[in-house]
Amino acid sequence: MTERTLSMIKPDGVSKNVIGDVIRRFEAANLKVIAIQMRTLTKKEAEGFYAVHRERGFFSSLVTFMSSGPLVALVLEGEGAILKNRSLMGATDPKQAEAGSIRADLAGSIEENIVHGSDSKESADFEIPYFFSQLALNG
Ligand code: GDP
Repeated sequence: MTERTLSMIKPDGVSKNVIGDVIRRFEAANLKVIAIQMRTLTKKEAEGFYAVHRERGFFSSLVTFMSSGPLVALVLEGEGAILKNRSLMGATDPKQAEAGSIRADLAGSIEENIVHGSDSKESADFEIPYFFSQLALNG
């Protein structure tokens, strides 16, 4: 089934200059970039995006990190895009991530782990409109 998923290249990925490296991996896996946006989130915007994690011990650190500099948000489209993106990303902790995955190859820590990807259809349905209007998705 053709799906859409929300990806982010987090502030560590932007500052490590690996935007192109990450996008190349999406394209090589037949995921198409259908919308893209670079921006720096305010703390409030980062808190809203990660609201499901607000009770977790790392929430405030995560929000500080995610609002620390520009990130790139993308909508990826393709066959089984949600799971495919999750497998390209690798496990949350780069030390546990599968060899050849984005996080295994590029990430520095469990927090600064280069990429975000929607973990379900329900998450994608919340996360895509968080960044992109209907108009931005028509192109
Ligand atoms: P993901 O779906 O693989 O991104 O992982 P989660 O949804 O569980 O967590 C969201 C984000 O919070 C992760 O990508 C990390 O940036 C951060 N995070 C997750 N677990 C931890 C943790 O144990 N410590 C810290 N500092 N950050 C974490």
